[in-house]
Amino acid sequence: MTAMPATDPFDGLELWFLTGSQALYGPETLDQVAAQSAAVVGQLDAASDVPVRIVARPVLTSADAIRRACLDAAHDDRCIGVIAWMHTFSPAKMWIGGLQVLGKPLLHLHTQANESLPWSTIDMDFMNLNQAAHGDRELGFLQTRMGLERKSVFGHVSDPAVQASVGRWARAAAGHHALRTLSLARFGDNMRDVAVTEGDKVEAEMRFGVSVNTWGVNDLVDAVAAVPERQVNELIEQHLEAYDVVDALRPGGAQHESLRVAAAIEGGLRTFLADGGFGAFTTNFEDLGGLRQLPGLAVQRLMADGYGFGGEGDWKTSALLRALKVMGAGLPGGTSFMEDYTYHLGPGVPKTLGAHMLEVCPSIAADRPSCEVHPLAIGDREDPVRLVFDAAPGPAVVVGLCDLGSRFRLVGAEVDTVPPDEPLPALPVARAVWTSRPDLRIAATAWLTAGGPHHTVYSSAVDREMLEDLATMVDVELVTIDAATTVAGFRDRLRWNAAWYHLAQGL
Ligand code: MN
Repeated sequence: MTAMPATDPFDGLELWFLTGSQALYGPETLDQVAAQSAAVVGQLDAASDVPVRIVARPVLTSADAIRRACLDAAHDDRCIGVIAWMHTFSPAKMWIGGLQVLGKPLLHLHTQANESLPWSTIDMDFMNLNQAAHGDRELGFLQTRMGLERKSVFGHVSDPAVQASVGRWARAAAGHHALRTLSLARFGDNMRDVAVTEGDKVEAEMRFGVSVNTWGVNDLVDAVAAVPERQVNELIEQHLEAYDVVDALRPGGAQHESLRVAAAIEGGLRTFLADGGFGAFTTNFEDLGGLRQLPGLAVQRLMADGYGFGGEGDWKTSALLRALKVMGAGLPGGTSFMEDYTYHLGPGVPKTLGAHMLEVCPSIAADRPSCEVHPLAIGDREDPVRLVFDAAPGPAVVVGLCDLGSRFRLVGAEVDTVPPDEPLPALPVARAVWTSRPDLRIAATAWLTAGGPHHTVYSSAVDREMLEDLATMVDVELVTIDAATTVAGFRDRLRWNAAWYHLAQGL
């Protein structure tokens, strides 16, 4: 099952909660284990930071039961990951067979039912019931012994930090699930001669699950031509409702026909993507066939609905954007296709102006976007309609995915979006202006050293921990540039990681 964009991506998904114990303690103790496990599940499931349903499974006391529980989790399409907690001591050799067949994201929750020790009444019965402190260490050892990638979270489930950490992982698991089931349509190939947007689509499907395939752009042109006038009118109603549409584009305006063309392109794209079950797509301005405009407004609005997108045939960024759209769903902020476009090197704090020719998602806008039409030499078509706005200030991440030939690498950076130093009345595209951590000189040098792409996903909804959780799930290197980054330390990390990933990959 896969959630299509514009629907709740968490709907119908589950995380299964596996509680480990053993038969040694007898039925009375195991009943208490089950009751306390249910209480932990109840708190996690009710936590507003956890967007995916948490499902309690029976307490596990034998290798057979553990293997069966993991097989069931592996085979159930609703289950997007497993949370494991060793309430008591669960000898971990019992977990080998199960963890070998699990094949889904794993979170090890290191918690205990009680928050405080009952200092004045604690006895050996209490000690035997509440021994996750060493029971979870037994599972930790086994997971490391097996080389299992997982997230470990420590603390009482009533702790907001624990709930938030589980919630971020749940979001990453939903993003991972979206990638595993993603079908991506490319209209045309990559921009000619560009290196970084190339990549191994077979390896991508093995690593991430995304299926990437190309359609002739004139298949889209046919879908655009089939859009009825009624649908064009409905879309224009939506445009007038949501944006400040310039007079020239409004009904009766001198360039209203341009808005009708843009709406028809949007209608055609929506039909094509929905009929094909696609959650992401790419376009290429070198290959527009019979399209009258380079798709701008349509792409912006589809991104706002949760579709992944990459310009110039960039399917890697498009797939990554779809995953981050899912991960950030319902959170404050937004997520967009982005490109490092041009710099402000001074005076004042150096800044990056991120934008694209047209295609920036209005989910990151500070204010109501303006809907405008301007000439665009690139693409050699009629003047394209686009939304123009400044991105909302605040912390954000930018992350790019590159194909190093033998493996993929994610490069991330923590940035702070700021208002432009001055208004930008002559710039006819949406943009985000940000400062870099620790500064632009170090951040840009580190990015270049990592071979990070110029196309990225920008998000003020997804944070670094979610990116780390997703990278763990797909077992792909993530290097993040932050306030503590030094160029020398970053270069060393890349070298060490190169050795690690080469060794871990084996022959
Ligand atoms: Mn580009």
